[in-house]
Amino acid sequence: MDSLRAYLDRFIADTLDRCTRCGKCYEACPMTSYAPALTGASPAAVVEGLLPLLQGGQGTNEAVAWVKVCTQSSRCTEACPEGINAMLMVRAARMGALGSLGGEAQMKPTEDPLFFRKIEAFAATQLAPEEIEQWHRVSPKERTAS
Ligand code: SF4
Repeated sequence: MDSLRAYLDRFIADTLDRCTRCGKCYEACPMTSYAPALTGASPAAVVEGLLPLLQGGQGTNEAVAWVKVCTQSSRCTEACPEGINAMLMVRAARMGALGSLGGEAQMKPTEDPLFFRKIEAFAATQLAPEEIEQWHRVSPKERTAS
């Protein structure tokens, strides 16, 4: 059985390979109107700006704004013509924006103060110590900030 990290790596590679950047996942999202930074944004451009986050790169301001308002409705996944789990794509992008995939953090985990503690408890059963170290790129103070 794959570790969580191996599964995530495979998912990211598959998503980057198959995503056509059509933007239909973004168009279907019910939350975009709640982010002022997304007013008038191009769906295709938002997705294009989100994909670097999956590889530890920097996302655009619009992409990070989308990540921040995600409530896991899964409308994006239902809308994807390529059968990609777009909700997981956005959640993985959130990890990237938090600095957990090797890049600079572009947001703080303010929505759920216990998010990282839950992940760490689960990760301890799934990941090697050096993989868990990735999760510690965000300081404990930032993890519990509200
Ligand atoms: S709908 Fe699917 S293929 Fe289109 S941009 Fe979103 S994830 Fe990529």
